[in-house]
Amino acid sequence: MSAINLTIDGREIEVAPGTTILQAARQLGIDIPTFCYDPELAPNGACRICVVEVEKARALVASCVAPVGPGMVVHTESDRVVSARKSVLSLLLANHPLDCITCEKTGECKLQDYCYRYDVASSEYVGAIKDLSYDDTNAFFVRDMNKCILCGICVGKCQDVVGAGAIDFVKRGFVTNVGPGFEDPIEDSSCVFCGMCIDNCPVGALIPKYVTGKGRPWQTESVPAVCPYCSLGCNINLHIKDNEVIGVSPVEESPVNRGHLCVQGKFGWDFVHSGDRITAPLVKSDGVFVEVSWEEALDYIVDSIKDVQSRFGPDALMGLGSPKASNEDNYLFQKLIRSLGTNNVDSYTCHCHASSVDGMVEAFGNAAATNSIAEVAETGAVLVIGANPEESHPILDYRVREAAQKGAELVVAVPDMVKLVDVSDHYLPLKQGTELALVNGLANVIIAEDLLDKAFVEKRTEGFDQFKKTVDKYTPEHVAEITGLTAEEIRAAARAYASAEKAAIVSDAAVNKQTGGADFVKALANLALLTGNVGRESTGVYLPYGENNLQGSADMGVHPNNVTCYQHLKDEKVREKFSRAWGVRISENYGLSAAEAFEAGKNSGIKAMYIMGENPVACGGDKAQIADYMKNLDFLVVQDIFMTETASLADVVLPAAAFAEKLGTYTNSERRVQLNQPALEPPGEVFPDWAVLVELAEWFGFEWDFAGPEEVFAELASLTPDYAGISYQRLSEGGLQWPCPADDHPGTKFLYQDSFSRGLGLFSAVEYDPEAEAESDGHSAACCTSGGHSCRCLSETITRRSVISAFKNSCCV
Ligand code: SF4
Repeated sequence: MSAINLTIDGREIEVAPGTTILQAARQLGIDIPTFCYDPELAPNGACRICVVEVEKARALVASCVAPVGPGMVVHTESDRVVSARKSVLSLLLANHPLDCITCEKTGECKLQDYCYRYDVASSEYVGAIKDLSYDDTNAFFVRDMNKCILCGICVGKCQDVVGAGAIDFVKRGFVTNVGPGFEDPIEDSSCVFCGMCIDNCPVGALIPKYVTGKGRPWQTESVPAVCPYCSLGCNINLHIKDNEVIGVSPVEESPVNRGHLCVQGKFGWDFVHSGDRITAPLVKSDGVFVEVSWEEALDYIVDSIKDVQSRFGPDALMGLGSPKASNEDNYLFQKLIRSLGTNNVDSYTCHCHASSVDGMVEAFGNAAATNSIAEVAETGAVLVIGANPEESHPILDYRVREAAQKGAELVVAVPDMVKLVDVSDHYLPLKQGTELALVNGLANVIIAEDLLDKAFVEKRTEGFDQFKKTVDKYTPEHVAEITGLTAEEIRAAARAYASAEKAAIVSDAAVNKQTGGADFVKALANLALLTGNVGRESTGVYLPYGENNLQGSADMGVHPNNVTCYQHLKDEKVREKFSRAWGVRISENYGLSAAEAFEAGKNSGIKAMYIMGENPVACGGDKAQIADYMKNLDFLVVQDIFMTETASLADVVLPAAAFAEKLGTYTNSERRVQLNQPALEPPGEVFPDWAVLVELAEWFGFEWDFAGPEEVFAELASLTPDYAGISYQRLSEGGLQWPCPADDHPGTKFLYQDSFSRGLGLFSAVEYDPEAEAESDGHSAACCTSGGHSCRCLSETITRRSVISAFKNSCCV
């Protein structure tokens, strides 16, 4: 259809058919007031504040719902329009407390702004006054329904974007308000406390408790940061006043979270002000920690590590980096450990994701996420299996819901009922631990019904024949017996996934033995390869990690055998490159992984350990055994923000800066490198990790010359082809997804367009192992599939010191 020309306030514009008058006006920069309009929700024209005058139309029209027409002439501020808007405002004021002097929303309230704009100071309507509920019963926010203007945005967001459906319009007529069914306290509802209702409330009806009495919007500084919790890396603005965070808001234009957050991002930042923070270096003396100066602590660390290495050799030292620390911190950490002559550097948290990494590397050649988070919303089919993104990665859950709303076929294969099932087309309540069998069954149907992408399989993959031989056994009938599903359910799900032009798979990187471990991930990759659903936009396999910089810490070479971005140390050229750049000889010896070091009954030979921001004693596995291991070390130094279970066993504890206190970059699970600005001065004697590492390196006698994180980043980018085109200057304008090999490269939205990192995609013949179901390794699959995230040990260290520990309905906090 051809474009439509119209005139708004004397200005001509050409827009696509179907555009509303409001949208056309906004394209011209004309500000039509709105209360109930939200671009993410279906417009309903309820509030009437957006009315405009259209020449030759009998009545004023609500511009948010009225489509443009050819030759239309619109006036957005005519006398008639202004008079109508005054009436709307007057009606609202008739029943709105006029306590703007003390209202927390002052300065950000649309009602206040529009009353000012149209000079409405009071109401001309006099009558009964509402006396509705004031709900103060939860830990996060207050609900003052006397201030609610019934715009319905909170209801729409809660139902359509979040899927919580915790609130709706309740009661009728004059006493209509918004709340949980039967006006129960919000805490007893299905509210997930994501704060989306608060962030979108145009008035002061919903106010976060943390902001109360702390400061006006114009008194705060807004500092961009990256959420410190899961690996989606949502963009947030920290609102700072007097060196205190007094609020958080989502970044509207973020390509990651598009103005959305979950409970952790919205409310979970208060740990930075916890009284439990370690604020000075501590050295254990007669079993008791005593505060010492930085000089004393560093001196002690250097002497102790040198002593251990002189007695037992360089490989008696091991370092554990942190998936919560920045890229710069992790880069310098592994550089220091390697400069001390050993490749024993790893992350304990990463080992929870080792299965996922192994599976992805084997199939595609690279462990990183194939596609971007936003692409999920545009796909034609989604298979959610072995995961409950609503609790583990809520923003990903929102995108899955969005895809379903746009017509994507949604298959949800989880043992227990989860909320995503409500919007699914196919719910497969399979038996716990039978996920791999189901995936093989889906592949069987796809091949049997000729739904595979033969051209893709032929040109881009290898190993198909062996794979086919294996899945031939997994007929729908056989898989039905294993999974408890029906053969027809399995066929229908396979058709849904394979028939879509673009399809994505969503699972969780914390897959475990019970779910099928690396074999399960390979099975998922098989499915994507079989249908050509990888290497294209809005396809791929999504296995997001638990911690916010797990991707970045792995990228930074916190790994025994890889330096940055998986450059393998067995390659002499890689060793040479880094040795030359660092001015030290990089050991040719393979390093020990964290899992190898902690293996029960084995003597790893590790005598000293330096742990930066990890807490292995509290992170799964045999906690008592790991605690004993730590106690038996000759020397243990831990750098952390809190006295964790691991730190309490250390000889030296160094205080660390929290995310809000330091400049640095973080890489999310879609490979997006993002800049986090410092918003606060650290407390006491606390310094950022990178500065501590630079100082420590100097005490060891290395000549490191970094004035700040930007210079650290420049060095790591110069040694890392996938990061080579990324710089702080570019990141100040927004994140960049690696591979980004040159200064003018835009970054890479999705991987493997032309080839896989390993050349051809590899089909793997993987079998369902019924034994695995019986042998749980302590990481419950139930936690992945029906509850929270199984690998949130570091997050739990901080959530325990946050108001979000009050959120009873989620096991992810
Ligand atoms: Fe933070 Fe993840 Fe929640 Fe986003 S989805 S706000 S990154 S915890």
